[in-house]
Amino acid sequence: MSDLQNTDQPPRPGVVVTGASGRMGQMLVRLVLDHPDLRLVGALDQPGQPWIGQDIGTAMGGAPAGVIVSDDAVTAIAQAQAVIDFTTPDATVGFAELTAQARAVHVIGTTGLGPDHLAALEAAARHAPIIRAGNMSLGVNLLVGLTRKVAAALGEGWDIEVVESHHRHKVDAPSGTALMLGEAAAEGRGTTLDDVRTPAREGITGARPPGTIGFAAIRGGDVVGEHDVIFAAEGERIVLRHLATDRAIFARGAIRAALWGQDKGPGSYDMHDVLGL
Ligand code: NAP
Repeated sequence: MSDLQNTDQPPRPGVVVTGASGRMGQMLVRLVLDHPDLRLVGALDQPGQPWIGQDIGTAMGGAPAGVIVSDDAVTAIAQAQAVIDFTTPDATVGFAELTAQARAVHVIGTTGLGPDHLAALEAAARHAPIIRAGNMSLGVNLLVGLTRKVAAALGEGWDIEVVESHHRHKVDAPSGTALMLGEAAAEGRGTTLDDVRTPAREGITGARPPGTIGFAAIRGGDVVGEHDVIFAAEGERIVLRHLATDRAIFARGAIRAALWGQDKGPGSYDMHDVLGL
């Protein structure tokens, strides 16, 4: 291909992957390196992480990728058009400030964010697009829509419970996805999850208050992610279920979000925006 043809191509957005040595981070690095429309321009990890200073491709056991794993977020993010971030809530807030300064798209998969984290992200979203979802898969985002519809169609005689299973390394519960589903069910009923959420059950809990939404979390082995939304009434039950068998579904969703966000203005977006649901 001649240089002239190359100059006609739009520049490929440069992506920084945070938490590059993590389960999602490694998956994202592979997909960005293989993507025809994206360039990997940075791989970030925590100070002291053994991969710092190594080529990310070699550190993952493959061919060199020409990108050195770094703990210098300021320098890496300054050259990014997109930052894909599956780390921890505190780390994500720090990355959001730098990504907003770079006017880059921040795709956030990190779960377990509290009200202070969310407020910091809202402030950052005033300067650049933030796309955040507790689950980036197409299937789960469809399930969210179905949950909202079913909850709206059924009366309070139907109890709603969300049951989720994840691998033994997961540190937060209920999962971000379970909370998305709970929020959708509450919206379907014309209320908010904060108003109807049942605290975790243990001991003598008393009978189930009508209209509430409960959560149960199972942790073990290498389960990628399973979610059931149960609608239970006298004599019958409806179960809406999503089973994830490969975490690539989340990484592919995040990459789609990074591309989708390239021509968007500042603001907070979710996967429903990205997928046009
Ligand atoms: P993980 O394997 O523990 O990876 C997290 C990575 O982030 C680790 O490499 C960790 O480094 C790194 N990290 C932590 N603090 C950092 C900092 N300040 N700077 C740079 N890197 C930092 O976890 P995971 O399974 O990939 O999941 C990560 C997050 O994504 C979790 O919140 C999980 O719930 C969420 N998740 C979301 C979706 C979705 O679709 N939204 C899907 C899957 C997972 P160390 O190992 O050195 O601590």
